[in-house]
Amino acid sequence: MGAFVCPRCGNKDPRFLGVRNGKTYCRKCISFRGEEAEDKKLAPKNVRLALRYPLSKDQKELSDKVIANFHDGIDTLVHAVCGSGKTEISYGIIAECMAKGMHVGFALPRRDVVIELYYRMKEAFPDNRIVCVFGGHHRRLEGDLILLTTHQLYRYPHYFDLLVMDEIDAFPFKGNELLIAMYRRSLRGHCVMMSATPSSTVLKDFHGKGKMTLELHTRFHKKPIPVPKVVKKFGPLKYAYLIQKLKQYRQEKKPCFVFVPTVEKSEALFRAISPFVKGGNYVSSQRENRPGIIEAFKKGKYRYLITTAVLERGVTVKGIQVIIFGADQAIYDSAALIQISGRVGRKIGAEKGDVIFLCDKETKAMQKAIREIEYSNTFL
Ligand SMILES: [Zn+2]
Repeated sequence: MGAFVCPRCGNKDPRFLGVRNGKTYCRKCISFRGEEAEDKKLAPKNVRLALRYPLSKDQKELSDKVIANFHDGIDTLVHAVCGSGKTEISYGIIAECMAKGMHVGFALPRRDVVIELYYRMKEAFPDNRIVCVFGGHHRRLEGDLILLTTHQLYRYPHYFDLLVMDEIDAFPFKGNELLIAMYRRSLRGHCVMMSATPSSTVLKDFHGKGKMTLELHTRFHKKPIPVPKVVKKFGPLKYAYLIQKLKQYRQEKKPCFVFVPTVEKSEALFRAISPFVKGGNYVSSQRENRPGIIEAFKKGKYRYLITTAVLERGVTVKGIQVIIFGADQAIYDSAALIQISGRVGRKIGAEKGDVIFLCDKETKAMQKAIREIEYSNTFL
């Protein structure tokens, strides 16, 4: 039994192996079982790319390099700042591979973001069949372009000629051996990985043979990324500062996200401050009707939204300000701080905004995040 290696996930740890009817089986990847896609040959497609805005010069340059790499058999990491328009950089290679009838996938760790991407892709590729696959939604597994959570990659063994993966540094994909094994198993061609904050492991990996990292330091609107400000306040003064800031934004008609480290804190902070500053709400992974609250916030129904990391990525709101309440907590590593800061100033006509790290003490993660944002801004 010692020599058994699971063909699905690569597990060879005997503690996760079982024997049934004299046959060894793997218990590690047991939850990744279900219907799998059929490896059917696809016909070449007509592909029409309908973009609301043309690609910027930087985006076009990177898009061309991604295509050239794919032709040369090279996997690409696109290391691009928040708000640079990473998704658009992948359209060119997606269009080409769909046109050739290749198997094309686009995977993301989080279901919310997959759904949001679905609407963008439908708009960008109006003539193609785009399918969306995530937990509880997998009746149709095949299409011209498959958008899926990283959890669903197990349904596509040795399937994708092109696999685009975004937010690879995000939970739950980051550091998850099983999901990484399922990703490797699903890829038979080449991948394009995208991240604003790749881990040092990924960066190192993409310096290897047959791989290339492409960097993009500027946002598509060519304005600097707002640099976070560290504000140290203790005890009740932290609350007083937050209330005063929210009142100020309210007067200036600027919406604000207040990030908190835990689910409990999102509700507790809302209860504490809502008597003093009206017009807010709170969300977390546990909150019922989260999409509805976020939609209402985007439409201006609320002036501020207290949130956990669920809004750390993927959400764009024009004119948004950001305060991280307790930014010195351990869950805020530099990557999380950069992602959260990256919510601000993304839209044309609202390229500036506040990012405030409200804390007891300045941490190394804050310093690193600020350094990296300042470094990106030197490329302007
Ligand atoms: Zn296994």
